[in-house]
Amino acid sequence: MTIALAIHGGCGTLPKAEMTDAEWAEAKAHLAKSLRAGWAVLAKGGSAVDAVEAAVLVMEDSVHFNAGHGAAFNADGEHELDASIMDGSTLAAGALCAVKRIRNPVSAAKALMHRGDPLLLTGPAGDAFAQTEGLDIVENEYFSTERRRKNLASMKIRELVGTAGEASEAEKHGTVGAVALDANGHLAAATSTGGYTNKPPGRVGDSPIIGAGTYARDGRCAVSGTGKGEFFIRYCIGHEIASLIGYAGLSLKEAADRAIAELTQHKIGAGLVAVGADGTIVAPYNSEGMYRGWVTPDGLVHVATHADVEVMGQV
Ligand code: ASP
Repeated sequence: MTIALAIHGGCGTLPKAEMTDAEWAEAKAHLAKSLRAGWAVLAKGGSAVDAVEAAVLVMEDSVHFNAGHGAAFNADGEHELDASIMDGSTLAAGALCAVKRIRNPVSAAKALMHRGDPLLLTGPAGDAFAQTEGLDIVENEYFSTERRRKNLASMKIRELVGTAGEASEAEKHGTVGAVALDANGHLAAATSTGGYTNKPPGRVGDSPIIGAGTYARDGRCAVSGTGKGEFFIRYCIGHEIASLIGYAGLSLKEAADRAIAELTQHKIGAGLVAVGADGTIVAPYNSEGMYRGWVTPDGLVHVATHADVEVMGQV
């Protein structure tokens, strides 16, 4: 049976000159580590759900991506995290939004999905749920990094001088996500984010919204998005791609490209990774770059930040 895995670390990729070679190497190594973690689950016959969780966990723990440790600050200088996971075989899903104390929100989303009901918990209720589940609880400062602090300072200045609209994707955005097809033919998707820098407290993006930033349905596709969440919600991007495949007969590539084209009309940064029922992988984006990666059927780990794709050895 075919297995497949793809990840993204957000379309808010930094311009190449903004990090040292060592930092770029580390960011790529963390993408490769995420792929290896997810692939290890799939290769031993594990579920797509467990694979996407394993892959996202690595990126939540990495300083390089806007999710978990390294998440964006909101306008109050705090972190409010959103995450979700979906099982394409049952359409079960779990999601949390605006949580402040869960070290790995993707695992809390999976625990909530397994509980079955409710599907989405917000703020303190989400944090309390994770605590009852015995998941790691941290102080909000755990998520803070110097880079994100600088992003917040520059967005505050932009706000004052009226140039917030001109901020680069890297100053504002980022998200992590994974999509997988397991050996039983089941699809899953997971997404986790700090949202965007200087977002108003209480703002919830597309990442925890099933059908928008995250969607999985067996026989069609699994999708995880990154970019200005408000537009992913308006177009129900994940569900839109599944519907273009299911009802309009488009290929995964045609459907994903059409979704990105729709978003691009609004002059917003947008990207996604998606896997089809046959294991086809696509990773379109319209921004300068997108942290992304996938494993090809021959077991080669592919990682990219901008246009060039690097092979990082066998899985
Ligand atoms: N989609 C995320 C949000 O709107 C941010 C991003 O992916 O850049 O919260």
